[in-house]
Amino acid sequence: MCRFSRRDFGTIYNRRTESPLPSLNYVYSYSMKPPPPQTATRQQFEVEPCLRHSQIMRDAIRPSRKSDFARKCIAVILLHAIFLFAILAALIIGHWISDEKPFTNRTSFNYSNAGFMFENLNKITTTTNIVHQFDAPNPTLLTTSAEYARKNMPRVVERLIPLEKKKNYTILDVFPPSQDANFAVSEQLHGVRSNRLKTDALLVPLPLYILPYHYDLRLDFRDFDTLLFVRVNITIHLESFGNSTEDEIQFHLGPNIQIEKMRLRKDGKKLYAEHFKKEESKKLGRLKLKDPLRKGKYILEMEYNMTICDEDIDGVRCSLDVQNNSSLLATSFTTKFEPTLARAFFPCWDEPGVKATFNISAIHDPKYNVLSNMPVVLGTQQKGITHFQQTPPMSTYLLAFAIGEFVKLESRTDRGIPVTVYAYPEDVMSMKFTLDYAPMIFDKLEETLEISYPLPKIDLIAARNFHVGGMENWGLIVFEYASVAYTSQNSDHVNETVDRMYNEYRIGKLIAHEAAHQWFGNLVTMRDWSELFLNEGFATFFVYELMSFERPITAQFEYFDGLAVLFAAQSEEDHKLALVRELNTESQVEKSFHPTNLYTKGCVFIRMIRDLVSDFDFKAAVRRYLRKNAYRSVSRDDLFASLPAYADHGAEQEKLSQVLEGWFVNEGMPEVTLTRNYDNEMMTISQKKTIHHDYRSFLKDRKEDKLRLRETRAANKIDLDGSTPFDDSMFDGFRPKKNGSTTKRHRTTRRNKTTTKPRYPSESSRRDELRKPRRVGNSQDLWTIPITYQFGSLKTSEGQVIREFWLKNRSVSFADNEVSPNQAVLVNPDWKYPFRVNYDLLNWKLLARTLHQNHLEFSEKSRIQLLIDSEYFLSNSNNPHLYLYLLGYLAHETNLEVMLIGIDSVYRFIDIYKGTSLNQAIVIYFAPVISQMDNLLLESQTDAETASLWLVRPERLAKLYQLRCAVNIPSCKNEYHTQKWAHSPDDWTEDVHKQVTAVCHQLFTGNNDEQLRNVHQLLLSRLKSTGAQWALTIQLAACSHDSKLLRKTAQAIVATKNAAVYASALQSDFSLHYNPAFRKQFWSEIAKMSIVEKSALFSTNSSDILTASRILLHSVKTIDELQQVRSLLPDWGPLMSLHFEYLERYLLWISNVSQGVLHQFFAADLLNF
Ligand SMILES: [Zn+2]
Repeated sequence: MCRFSRRDFGTIYNRRTESPLPSLNYVYSYSMKPPPPQTATRQQFEVEPCLRHSQIMRDAIRPSRKSDFARKCIAVILLHAIFLFAILAALIIGHWISDEKPFTNRTSFNYSNAGFMFENLNKITTTTNIVHQFDAPNPTLLTTSAEYARKNMPRVVERLIPLEKKKNYTILDVFPPSQDANFAVSEQLHGVRSNRLKTDALLVPLPLYILPYHYDLRLDFRDFDTLLFVRVNITIHLESFGNSTEDEIQFHLGPNIQIEKMRLRKDGKKLYAEHFKKEESKKLGRLKLKDPLRKGKYILEMEYNMTICDEDIDGVRCSLDVQNNSSLLATSFTTKFEPTLARAFFPCWDEPGVKATFNISAIHDPKYNVLSNMPVVLGTQQKGITHFQQTPPMSTYLLAFAIGEFVKLESRTDRGIPVTVYAYPEDVMSMKFTLDYAPMIFDKLEETLEISYPLPKIDLIAARNFHVGGMENWGLIVFEYASVAYTSQNSDHVNETVDRMYNEYRIGKLIAHEAAHQWFGNLVTMRDWSELFLNEGFATFFVYELMSFERPITAQFEYFDGLAVLFAAQSEEDHKLALVRELNTESQVEKSFHPTNLYTKGCVFIRMIRDLVSDFDFKAAVRRYLRKNAYRSVSRDDLFASLPAYADHGAEQEKLSQVLEGWFVNEGMPEVTLTRNYDNEMMTISQKKTIHHDYRSFLKDRKEDKLRLRETRAANKIDLDGSTPFDDSMFDGFRPKKNGSTTKRHRTTRRNKTTTKPRYPSESSRRDELRKPRRVGNSQDLWTIPITYQFGSLKTSEGQVIREFWLKNRSVSFADNEVSPNQAVLVNPDWKYPFRVNYDLLNWKLLARTLHQNHLEFSEKSRIQLLIDSEYFLSNSNNPHLYLYLLGYLAHETNLEVMLIGIDSVYRFIDIYKGTSLNQAIVIYFAPVISQMDNLLLESQTDAETASLWLVRPERLAKLYQLRCAVNIPSCKNEYHTQKWAHSPDDWTEDVHKQVTAVCHQLFTGNNDEQLRNVHQLLLSRLKSTGAQWALTIQLAACSHDSKLLRKTAQAIVATKNAAVYASALQSDFSLHYNPAFRKQFWSEIAKMSIVEKSALFSTNSSDILTASRILLHSVKTIDELQQVRSLLPDWGPLMSLHFEYLERYLLWISNVSQGVLHQFFAADLLNF
């Protein structure tokens, strides 16, 4: 396996994010050789695909190592990404199985399989292994109970099947599975459990009349390793406020905790209980007293024991070894209590707002290191007992323990705070970067925030079997080993490689995130999980801040790439979650840790605050917020209180808290529409929540639409090339101030660079803040939006003019007589604030024309926004030709960041129309664009940081390979690769994806000559192979036109009875071509199955349409093919019928627009467009 070829093939690491998606867990390897003397000025990168195994092969390859390194390095990553992508959907769906057994055993949608495979994918290091997943289903992975499967479904599946819970479907509910959605989950940080909660619990806020202020925990770890068992003595110091009639003490208590003794005292006197009740559904303990509680201090003592390492409980993650007698031995464990798992380790008030101090001691075998949040009290570590210093007031979810035989690596921050990395002996070598980097990040954060890191030590553990990338426990940060491990092959700093840069970036981000939490989350904590963005939004924001010091290009691109993903997600019905919303159960809190809807959305809004108040004022406010609320719990009102009261935009001020409130509590994201009247210089700017349905024109009722269109045309005498209908009633006389200038802010405050340590607040003030009412807020579709628009040209003496004002109402109309009718108006330049912008058609056209004439009139960020927005608003409209025209400007695009977004756009456009007669014309139209993409790929290899931009989403390179073959650019090298492959079909000496794409292209387009016939024979003979060979064979064979080969291939695919293989074959990862001959064969083979099997495959008997069924169905590109699929079954059930209706409308629309406006577009003289 590649993992063991470290010495031969350069650096290998497992790029493991915290994502449960396998697509991001690829493994890749590449190394850099010193540049040869003749080209010493250029950095060169070399890639070693994991596929190479034999010495012979290596020898054969070595002489061919030349430039093209960055491309190769990306390519290898990509290769894995693509293979994984191919099976991804299938994996999350599980296998569809059918054999001769009775039906109940025959069908198995094994979600828990999927979970199993996720966990194991990081162990799969070569393409070979990955492709093995295509083999006949492994019976051990199957369950027979669909009910069991659904209960154990990993959360990601749940997200991909949003229809599950709805009852009454409409055509608007039926959507194709998003291709790119799989990559949307780029970073899954802490907070998500690998398995679903078996039992969900209501989160009932505990009463406030009695609260803890201190805990003493005495842990006995002596039996943790052999018996997986821990004994604990706990003393909870409580304060009761006021004489009350209440006679009950409620606290959180996990069902796994077995209490043996309990004692309550007040002023040294023992108190008697009426009874003690364990309420498992709420995970509560209720101690009912004989007498009511009185004001004063109480001490509650308990002795209990619990089993650990139980996957279902999940607060303790163990590393287990199987012994000779087949019993399990734990070698180490780490805890992770966020969000609501502290209660499964000790009885406590397990709410983030309830802070207390902790004294901890642990009895253990001296061979183990025991770690907790605080340092060991010196001189006490004897006879197997370790005492820890008392913690500051902190939330229970941040308490942490670890035990194991770790090796220590030590470093210090500038202030002398010890930073220690704990790792397993065999992992130590790969921790060097983490050890060097962590202290630096803490120094930077102290400098930026001007508040000292509050604890006396920082420990980082590289744990095993830790199911998320990192957890920010105060003073004891736990990482999954793979997410912080990196071994560089090049120890000298001169040869900085893409490999190293990317690895350092990836690890750096994770460390920065957890380090930022030490302030945002640990020092100042959200009072309620509904405002988790106060933790995660700030932590994510500071990651970009910190990373942009060193990697400004990558950090900036990732931000905007993430913003695009956020908009894509929040534009769909099932994803438009408000940032602050009610969370009532444990599982709702678990699910709220969403990479897009929490991390990205939180970060985007924090960044918006910064942009509204200026960087200087923002930093000052953040310092104020941290200092004022140190050791306390907060709500967003406390954040508002620290921010400037007003935000300036243009000549007006708005109350900042009122502006932000809407953005925090509203569902979805806003879109703004600019409509111009070109006769009288009036403009209307309106806002609404962005919903993709509105722009999928085929979802609208066609009759109604036509009618409306006719009426509008009659009323406004416009055609599709003119402006959209303009409503005169919208004129309300508003006029923005002319020549509104950007705001200037005073920067008179002296900057205090020294960092200080905040003091502990009193217990009573902490208790008072808990009494503040909890406020979630109602979602409304109205935002207070800072509007900026720009017009004019850099080339003229007037230059570009910028206007700013607040949009608070649904819409506003005004005249701006400086804007001439032939000038484009751009709203929200630099994509500064997070909203979409739509325009009337003529303004879209003017914008597109400006891009064609001089794209530099708009900044790079604006160009990215124009690409994203025009696709959203225009590509599914009745005017896709306008979008096509706009995309054409990319032939001149010279900025790689913009072009990377453009690759996605162009790829998707070609993909939509590849089944139509216009396919060829579209491909020819894009030829100069694709050629320019190829040029930028070549150019990017001269600079390591630019090259690493490809790694943000490596699948883009695969798309480019397909695009350049589709337009026959010589770099496709189809004939060369085909010859080479025919000669030695197992010798993949270069980037496999590039090679397979080229061979596929040759098979699809080549003449049926001697050589091609040989290739067909070769493929036929290889259909009997297994594993990776077989998977590549079917991918290649599906590109050919040879009927015998296609028939045999379709038979081989269908015989696997594996939906994963079907979906992969139809999605064709190596080709943008549409091969109707192959698809016809494939569906004919499916037709031969029994009705029972087909019903299972398409889940027609269920209200839950499986993702596999959806992928299969939505891969259809023509009406003819749809008819063929429809004839497979006599009855498709109500939900699948809706899918057919959706597809029918969609395919008819494609056929209409391609025969209509697109056809006219190609027939017209493009110069005069
Ligand atoms: Zn976090």
